[in-house]
Amino acid sequence: MISEKHILIIEDDKVILKFMKLALETNGYQVTGTDQGSIGLNILINQNPDLILLDLGLPDIDGVQVIEEVRKVKTTPIIVISARGRENDKVLALDSGANDYITKPFNIGEVIARVRVALRNQEQTIENKQFTYKDLFVDSDKRIVKVADQTLHLTPIEYKLLELLIIHQGKVLTHSFIQQKIWGYQTQDDYQSLRVFMASIRKKIHSIKKDSQYILTEVGVGYRFIDE
Ligand code: CA
Repeated sequence: MISEKHILIIEDDKVILKFMKLALETNGYQVTGTDQGSIGLNILINQNPDLILLDLGLPDIDGVQVIEEVRKVKTTPIIVISARGRENDKVLALDSGANDYITKPFNIGEVIARVRVALRNQEQTIENKQFTYKDLFVDSDKRIVKVADQTLHLTPIEYKLLELLIIHQGKVLTHSFIQQKIWGYQTQDDYQSLRVFMASIRKKIHSIKKDSQYILTEVGVGYRFIDE
């Protein structure tokens, strides 16, 4: 039997919190709620929830700061549910490491659908947990990446990107496919943030081994992890 997924809701509107909690529990999820960002971060460390639903306007710390703190230690999917509907707010939250963004007022059915997608994406991982290609080594349990025996320090988003390309080794992944998988959402910036993340991964790899090439750019289409 599949174990119950644990969802953490950080939301200071008590009515919304109660409503989301009830709806998620009805759909078979275990739910913990708090109205404070700092308490949410403690729950994250102590209880390791499977997913976070996050409001941005919180009484103690700003939601974007919560995202940044989470991303220093975890890749737990974060779905922002906020009244801040401007494009800038969305991009800021997503660039900080949120996986998805829903604007208030929301449809609870949509929230549950997005939760399901985010959890499914999270479960997809490298077969047999370990992967080697030439000088590159990845351990998906420990989240360790090495190039020529040296540890490669990737941010959680960079790690997810590399992992996604490895899972689909040899296949061209389009920009929009990658965005949907990583952020659960298609940004409107003409894939600029994706390019920035890919450039950063390459730069880090090249700082260890100058001419290593694992990822090919398919111009105007997307990226492919080399399989020959
Ligand atoms: Ca609020």
